[in-house]
Amino acid sequence: MESIFGYMENYDYENLFLCQDKTLDFKAIIALHDTTLGPATGGCRMWLYDSEMDAIEDALRLARGMTYKYAAAGVNLGGGKAVIIGDPKRRDREPIFRALGKFINRLGGKYITGEDVGTNLKDMEYIRMETEYVVTLPTYLGGAGDIAPMTAFGVIRAMQACCKRVYGSDNLEARKIAVQGLGAVGHNVVDQLHAVGAKMIVSDIDAEKLEAMVERYGVEKVAVDTIYDMVFDIFCPCALGGIINDDTLERLKCKIICGSANNQLKEERHGSLLEKRGMIYAPDFIANAGGTIYDTDRLGVGGVSHERGKAKVSRIYENMERVFYIADRDKIATYLAANRMAEERIKQIAEVKKYVDDLKP
Ligand code: NAD
Repeated sequence: MESIFGYMENYDYENLFLCQDKTLDFKAIIALHDTTLGPATGGCRMWLYDSEMDAIEDALRLARGMTYKYAAAGVNLGGGKAVIIGDPKRRDREPIFRALGKFINRLGGKYITGEDVGTNLKDMEYIRMETEYVVTLPTYLGGAGDIAPMTAFGVIRAMQACCKRVYGSDNLEARKIAVQGLGAVGHNVVDQLHAVGAKMIVSDIDAEKLEAMVERYGVEKVAVDTIYDMVFDIFCPCALGGIINDDTLERLKCKIICGSANNQLKEERHGSLLEKRGMIYAPDFIANAGGTIYDTDRLGVGGVSHERGKAKVSRIYENMERVFYIADRDKIATYLAANRMAEERIKQIAEVKKYVDDLKP
């Protein structure tokens, strides 16, 4: 990034806030991308960046990603992100996160934070001591608690929509699914797929997690790199990004790629290449939005309701169908159709808001 304002103009960012407290050795960035749909919302990342510019670029890029995620999911929130420049293993966490809470509070609700890489629920509790504008909280503080089961549920709803398109039926019982990564989301995906009778192949770099899953459900295990060469219908990446690349595209023989991992396409062109090879890709920010949808559902409606939250996550099926509709309509790959779906919704709601404003005396 050569110029901050150039970058902000290019992608239409609203605000960028720099926060510091030298006595606490605290430096943070809050980026607000687009608040057309609602307050800018997105987690707080804590990371040791190579440079301040890297941290600013990360905050901006992640904030924009959240705008697209909420817009495509039909949620009335905008995109924002906070980044604390620091060692994620830093021990004196209370002053750091309370300092961030103080700065977030100053924004008066324009930005709502949550958990992300390098931060945890305890950190969110510290932020909550200084501001109400934090969404990810434990249940005893009025939050939704562990959201990974709902992220997994959303992935499965997206998978069903993909199956409907490919096989004409969304029944997963007849499918063989390869789950890569058995962490917070992956192990919930396996639990839920087992419950609907799907056959599975699983892999994880952690041998203990792998053996536990084999013992629990009798699923087939496979070595980390071998997974791409196996025969199955659906590939469900729930570990790393960049796993759809020149090497793996040559090896994958499945019909559907649908998982929770962020940034699955190594480069955007891989999203078009996989379609040329006859595969369907569920864009990551559509398929993995379940936890976010569930987590933020309580905002403005007076608290957590499992039924309402789950019903909203379930609509990821319809969101995927809309992605396919736009992909067919505009003859573009699904990863591009997902972006277009988000942009169209923001544009339409901006029109509605303008119209409503025009009616005001
Ligand atoms: P996690 O750290 O709990 O689990 C990741 C798992 O992948 C671990 O068990 C790890 O051992 C395994 N793994 C790492 N490298 C591997 C490899 N090469 N092959 C196989 N397994 C490997 O993370 P998580 O919260 O389950 O998230 C998984 C992915 O989904 C991440 O990309 C994350 O950004 C994304 N995501 C998670 C959520 C959520 O609700 N947790 C929401 C949206 C997106």
